[in-house]
Amino acid sequence: MKKVVKFGGSSLASAEQFMKVGNIIRADESRRYVVPSAPGKRFSDDTKVTDMLYHCYELAESGQAFTKQLNQIKDRYNEIIRGLKLDFSLTEDFETIKKHFLAKAGSMYAASRGEYLNGKIMAKYLNYEFIDAANVIRFHKDGSFDDETTNKLLSERLNVCERAVVPGFYGAMANGTVVTFSRGGSDVTGSLVARAVNANLYENWTDVSGFLVADPRVVKHPEVIHTITYKELRELAYMGASVLHEDAIFPVRQVGIPINIRNTNSPEDDGTMIVESTCRIPTYTITGIAGKQGFVAVNIEKDMMNSEIGFGRKVLQAFECNGISFEHMPSGIDTMTIFVHQDEFEEKEQKVIADIHQIAHPDSIEMESDLALIAVVGRGMRSTRGTAGRLFSALAHAHINVKMIDQGSSELNIIIGVRNEDFKDAINAIYNIFVVAQL
Ligand code: ASP
Repeated sequence: MKKVVKFGGSSLASAEQFMKVGNIIRADESRRYVVPSAPGKRFSDDTKVTDMLYHCYELAESGQAFTKQLNQIKDRYNEIIRGLKLDFSLTEDFETIKKHFLAKAGSMYAASRGEYLNGKIMAKYLNYEFIDAANVIRFHKDGSFDDETTNKLLSERLNVCERAVVPGFYGAMANGTVVTFSRGGSDVTGSLVARAVNANLYENWTDVSGFLVADPRVVKHPEVIHTITYKELRELAYMGASVLHEDAIFPVRQVGIPINIRNTNSPEDDGTMIVESTCRIPTYTITGIAGKQGFVAVNIEKDMMNSEIGFGRKVLQAFECNGISFEHMPSGIDTMTIFVHQDEFEEKEQKVIADIHQIAHPDSIEMESDLALIAVVGRGMRSTRGTAGRLFSALAHAHINVKMIDQGSSELNIIIGVRNEDFKDAINAIYNIFVVAQL
């Protein structure tokens, strides 16, 4: 049994957190490969080390003094080293970092040091081998990720290594230039390591006990999702639910390694299992609810639209030419509606409307703003009758006017449009009917 364990920034923000992590790793022999993030926030208005590094490097790049800020970062690490009572020093590493900052090594190099230094402490603390991600995670010359070379380098290196720490978030080009993934990218490193060692499980340890059925800022104390498929996760993530970096899914999904989201502060919780497919009957008909506010519906009408070949393409062309992506496109007999993000659309609105008129010659165009989209997602919906009926009667009871309905052909989700002001009430009504009523 081989497990890859990735720990997020809040799990490694202090010596106390490191100790919890140490206990988790030592509790299971198979937790052999560890991917740490940089130290995150210790309390709510604390600053993540990654953000401190970005700021410090900005000063260095613009020729300002940065020693004080670099020392503050050093203090964060020294506090951890002291708290763990390690006989270990990062003084030389900080000298090297200072030199590279003065030589303007780039903000990616700067940010990557957060994980690099944390990885070194972690390796010392666990007595695991330290593997610099710059040697095993490869990027192309143009800065894009080189999946093939990475898999080769990582598997060759890790196959001869019983236990190792590989810092998350960064890698390097063949010439050594350090490149980072986008923010939260240690999740991706964890996934790549899991694939390279052919792990049985990729455990992703964070500060919540898994994915929640709904956003806790909207629904009070929502239930945890026990098992979710990659497809369901994709639907929910697209609609704004976030715990895991989106790119972390592809490497493990390809080879069928499940991901288990766990809570460092509550290791006894099972967390959420993310799997390719499952025969487990879901606890509730729905797996999750997620949504986003701030959409505009552009309603386009034209007599006999349905028989005009190419009409839809022409309308979409007007959006494409103006660089606007659309989210949804429900249609009627002589009408079609395009949902777009309000903030993206507002400034180009008149140009898009003019282009639709010129390209597609509709009879009329009307717009409705301040709309929200809510996705109700669940593999259980396919085999349950009456889901839509229950959903809409719950919304009707809550006096919510549904502006749009869209059920994907996968029967995995139902997307509804409501007014922004009804957003929270709608999600609560859906949660109550499918989860609370079933408890
Ligand atoms: N430390 C990086 C960030 O704050 C990467 C990560 O934590 O995954 O985004």
